[in-house]
Amino acid sequence: MPRVVVIEGEDAAPEAVRPTIGLVDRLGLDIEWVRPDVDDYPATCRAIDESDATLFGATSGRSAAALFYLRWGKETYANVRPARWLPGFRSPMARPNGIDFVIVRENLEDLYVGVEGELESLRPFGLTSRMTRRNIADMGAGRFAVKAITEAGSERVVRFSFELARRRKAQGRRGKVTCASKYNMLPLSDGLFRDVAQRVAVEYPEIGFETFIVDDFARRLVATPQDLDVVVLPNLYGDILSDAAAGVIGGLGLAPSGCYGDRYAYFESAHGTAPDIAGQNAINPTATILSAVMMLEYLGRAEAARRLEAAVERVYALGRSLTRDQGGGASTTEFCAAVASELR
Ligand code: ATP
Repeated sequence: MPRVVVIEGEDAAPEAVRPTIGLVDRLGLDIEWVRPDVDDYPATCRAIDESDATLFGATSGRSAAALFYLRWGKETYANVRPARWLPGFRSPMARPNGIDFVIVRENLEDLYVGVEGELESLRPFGLTSRMTRRNIADMGAGRFAVKAITEAGSERVVRFSFELARRRKAQGRRGKVTCASKYNMLPLSDGLFRDVAQRVAVEYPEIGFETFIVDDFARRLVATPQDLDVVVLPNLYGDILSDAAAGVIGGLGLAPSGCYGDRYAYFESAHGTAPDIAGQNAINPTATILSAVMMLEYLGRAEAARRLEAAVERVYALGRSLTRDQGGGASTTEFCAAVASELR
């Protein structure tokens, strides 16, 4: 019996997580839900260690420690964020038909290693700007952040992306990996990410491969999203551009995500805690429901995953029970009731 930890998170997030669990329960699966007290950090970590996966809402603080454990403690290095347009999604694009790509964001490295400090403290290292040829500490009072990209960290997320592209190709998708970084300005760090991707690509001759400078890629994401299949990005660009990808299909309320390591995975919507709509029964739970779909696939419950996904697809195709962010008048509860009634 799969055991799944539930961490609802804060603000409006629980309003999406609770009905999502209700929908999964309707599928008649043998999932055991475990709800640790997030204020008890050791107990939460233990519950995570003893589980097969976690369904996470979103955090604005209280469950942040649990999230850090899920990410760095469990080494969930590949953040998979699908951007697939479904009929009924309120996309700002004139022709959203056929948008179906996945951003794989490296989840542990880059600027997210969390090392910042005063510029002055770097003086002893004699770091010289490539541009000004002066000691970085001579810029004046200010701060720095470390961007750390490792060869092994890049390789595992790139490999994950090619394996994903291979599986998607077997399902009839294009079979292409796009890599983007700022390798012109950052030839050593972002250049390493691209070099690793180029090296790994040789091992997958049946999968297409292309690289772009990340600003050029940002334009392509908006101008020609149908050309994309699997996109692999360093952490910061992946964080920013996956929100842009959500915007392209119709908004944050529609964008699921899963964070995968070699031995564990957790699932959460791409959006935050939506504090401005907390307590209104207005949050669009689609991102959370589709994250649960990804979780069911991970747990080997592919048929149940497909049933839940198909119910969501039907609700959007009918267009009668959509939430405010999608131009409808339905509450979260009414949307979920519509999904429940479409479960086959
Ligand atoms: P956080 O700091 O937790 O990321 P935030 O407010 O900066 O919070 P989001 O929670 O992602 O970021 O919300 C950004 C905007 O999108 C808010 O106006 C929010 O109400 C809206 N939003 C986010 N998710 C949803 C959703 N599922 N349904 C409806 N609106 C949403």
